[in-house]
Amino acid sequence: MPKSEHAQAINDEIMEALSLKNRYAFVNTNLMTVLSPQQFSFLKNVQKFCMRFEKKNNITHGPNEDVYNWIPAFGAEGYITRFQNFEACDVVYDYSGSCADFLRYLAIDNFDTQFAMGAGATVLAVNPIAAHHENVPVRVEAIKDLVTGVAPGCICITEPERGSDAVHQLTTCDEQGDGSFILNGVKIFNTNAPKSKWAVCYAAAEQNNGNMMAQFLINTSWEGWNCERVYIPWVPKLYLGKETLVNLKVPKEYILGGVGKGREHLFEGLVPERIGIAFGAISQCWGALAHAGIYVNLRKQFDQIILTFQGVGFTLADLWAKTTNLTLAMLKFCETYDEKTEKFGGQIPANIQQAMVASASQLKYQATNLSSEVCYEAANLMGGAGLGDNLLTHDYLGISRIQEIVGGSRQIQQYIMSMAFRKLYKML
Ligand SMILES: Cc1cc2nc3c(=O)[nH]c(=O)nc-3n(C[C@H](O)[C@H](O)[C@H](O)COP(=O)(O)OP(=O)(O)OC[C@H]3O[C@@H](n4cnc5c(N)ncnc54)[C@H](O)[C@@H]3O)c2cc1C
Repeated sequence: MPKSEHAQAINDEIMEALSLKNRYAFVNTNLMTVLSPQQFSFLKNVQKFCMRFEKKNNITHGPNEDVYNWIPAFGAEGYITRFQNFEACDVVYDYSGSCADFLRYLAIDNFDTQFAMGAGATVLAVNPIAAHHENVPVRVEAIKDLVTGVAPGCICITEPERGSDAVHQLTTCDEQGDGSFILNGVKIFNTNAPKSKWAVCYAAAEQNNGNMMAQFLINTSWEGWNCERVYIPWVPKLYLGKETLVNLKVPKEYILGGVGKGREHLFEGLVPERIGIAFGAISQCWGALAHAGIYVNLRKQFDQIILTFQGVGFTLADLWAKTTNLTLAMLKFCETYDEKTEKFGGQIPANIQQAMVASASQLKYQATNLSSEVCYEAANLMGGAGLGDNLLTHDYLGISRIQEIVGGSRQIQQYIMSMAFRKLYKML
């Protein structure tokens, strides 16, 4: 049970009722009719693992716990990602794909939302290495470290002067005679960077030239990687980084995409990134709803449980409907994605991938917006109890403030969707 160093503001009976077990039961009751037996059984397995892990390690989700310490245990269980298998390093799951990853995320986010987001950022480093490892041993080793929880990873796209405009990078890469590159520049807001062993980083052979971008795998122990922590108060347990790269030498075998390939690799990574952020955002909605749904059924004012006041009950009903509907949409998207991946032997054709760019933006756009509404309104329905630091509602309030910005802001998603609309029109 979440516990702060401060006074308990909620009575024991309600604290008890808000256990992880009961919150999972709330989510499961909602989803059992729509999930297939395989999906439901996987969800319950991840939940069981989280409940045992919480109990065994006496986790309170209090302010002094370091969520990065939990990574090895989740990695060993195969719970860092389930989006794909990694045959190159013999990591093959009994159940994987986008549905599996959605359900994995849901269970882990309900356990601890900041921890879930940290693991999500590691996966942003995994995806490009998995797509471009070409069986090079150091790349395969990096994938294994990341997906089995040996070490977290990070992706370094954003720069202090280049955020939304990610294709006009100022960080430079200069090719050397031996095929290695020297990187110079500054990156910022890179989730996990101060804790990472592996980073995937973009740079350009000519500043501001998107056609001359390249993509690199970096071992953060190398000379020239200088990382300071950036602190985002909404997610106090996550370590973000600002990295100053000074003559950082990247050997040839660590180049995931040479000059000219960087932009393509960047866009290829943004689709799974946005889908992953959407998984997180809708999971946050369920986490917040589970708290509010249990709380308003127990809390009494004016000698009545507060759910029976229309102002409370109808607000909750509205949040519940929106969360359920978007979950159904997301599951449908995932099922279709998995079917197509299987049908086309793991490689979805370019025209279908293109359609997925719009879908990924649509889901990211709406789910992150909904998270900001649901997490706030759910806490609001719980009065002071929802706003204090006794419960994870406090973590949901925080994390839901940042979702629209990470992985491309609301306006950028709108821009992408409007351009996709133009393409669609031209296809008529
Ligand atoms: C918690 C957190 C985690 C992050 N993790 C990572 C990470 O792991 N790796 C990484 O590389 N980056 C990461 N980022 C960076 C994130 O992707 C950027 O913050 C984001 O892309 C926005 O860039 P910016 O902050 O420079 O804002 P800006 O690009 O300066 O945008 C400021 C405002 O202007 C608007 N705007 C900009 N351009 C346009 C336009 N063309 N049309 C309309 N409006 C526009 C934006 O929507 C926004 O509201 C993270 C950020 C945060 C806060």
